[in-house]
Amino acid sequence: MQTSCCSNNDYDSKLLTVEEALTRIYHDLQPINGNEQLAIRDALDRVLAEDILSKINVPPHANSAMDGYAVQGSDLPTKGKTKLTMVGTSFAGKPYSGTVQAGQCARIFTGAVIPDGTDTVIMQENVDKQENVITITTGNEIGQHIRPIGEDISIGQTILKTGKYLSPVDIGLLASLGIPEVKVKRRLRVSFFSTGDELRAVGETLQAGQIYDSNRYSLYGVLSRLGVDIIDMGVVLDKPKDVEQAFLAAAECGDVIITSGGVSVGDADYVTDTLQRLGKVNFWKVAMKPGKPLTFGKLKDSAFFGLPGNPVSALVTFYQFVQPALRHMMGQNTTTQIRVPATCLSTLKKSPGRMEFQRGIMKTDEQGNLVVSSTGIQGSGVLSSMSQANCFIVLAKECGNVKAGNKVLIEPFAGLI
Ligand code: AMP
Ligand code: MG
Repeated sequence: MQTSCCSNNDYDSKLLTVEEALTRIYHDLQPINGNEQLAIRDALDRVLAEDILSKINVPPHANSAMDGYAVQGSDLPTKGKTKLTMVGTSFAGKPYSGTVQAGQCARIFTGAVIPDGTDTVIMQENVDKQENVITITTGNEIGQHIRPIGEDISIGQTILKTGKYLSPVDIGLLASLGIPEVKVKRRLRVSFFSTGDELRAVGETLQAGQIYDSNRYSLYGVLSRLGVDIIDMGVVLDKPKDVEQAFLAAAECGDVIITSGGVSVGDADYVTDTLQRLGKVNFWKVAMKPGKPLTFGKLKDSAFFGLPGNPVSALVTFYQFVQPALRHMMGQNTTTQIRVPATCLSTLKKSPGRMEFQRGIMKTDEQGNLVVSSTGIQGSGVLSSMSQANCFIVLAKECGNVKAGNKVLIEPFAGLI
């Protein structure tokens, strides 16, 4: 699709593109080992570790989609009227045990088994009933209002595949098959901490130059929604020894380590250096905005993500890189991020060179078109912009300024942020 772009190659070619960074992440990380057997309710938001085949038909019997009368299709009049005698009733859960003959009908309710001898249901609204005789007219079709056996699921069908992230619907689907327990991947363990001498936890009083640590709270939120085991290690000071100790402790308990802050090249930025010494750095600069410094690597057996400290940058890099990485390690079938075109109602400032994830508010206008407006200033410290937004406006690396009325790609937050 055409987005608003101008060509200008004035950017740092040493930076990895967002796509290259993602490819490296997928290449370096493997799904975790270890499964557990859980009751289906407890399996919500977990990743299936087996294929689920149905042992039954759903529905297990042909049944009525309406309250009405079950009849033989050959009794339907092609003109005029026909009278049929009612010989019994089929309730949901209490079928009629007899066989309906020509000239007869059975009262039937929604979900009830279609009685032997019948193949058609007539809605009660379309019937004239006098005592136990009904009169039917034309306008009905043979086979109508019947939900056939196995209409939803048939015996032997693979209904859920290994790697499926189990949603509330999936839990219901498993119940509809009569399956009480499933095998799922064990939970991924994620340890995380913030780095920064200036950070204080909520509840503490700020002294001059200090700020509240927000990243540990927003990260806690997104990690909770992803259904991982969270090990919150608090705030670590910008001291090489403290950072090193925290790294080693985090690697003891986490399949994944996430830190925020201290990944740029400032004097107090020890994260990348420490990873270099104790583990392996894969990359730490991506051509994106916000979030250019981002450390990815390995520490012992754990995957390592050093997110930038700016709160918006931390969330954007989490969303774009850590989220897919965690899903991959959880054994989840890969899901591609959905990006759709929308008309941009705002003018956007953008220099070519880095892919940008600006914060947008999407909606449908009166004509039903998808439109997006900017949340305003896009500083990487402006966390309120993320709170107002419901999508990213994704601007390609080469793209320049965007004029109001131009088409852009947007990526809905999809419930995670
Ligand atoms: P850094 O990446 O450590 O250079 O931090 C960049 C900016 O983000 C600085 O203004 C920090 O004060 C701020 N920052 C770092 N960590 C956090 C955090 N956990 N919560 C809120 N702001 C932070
Ligand atoms: Mg810092």
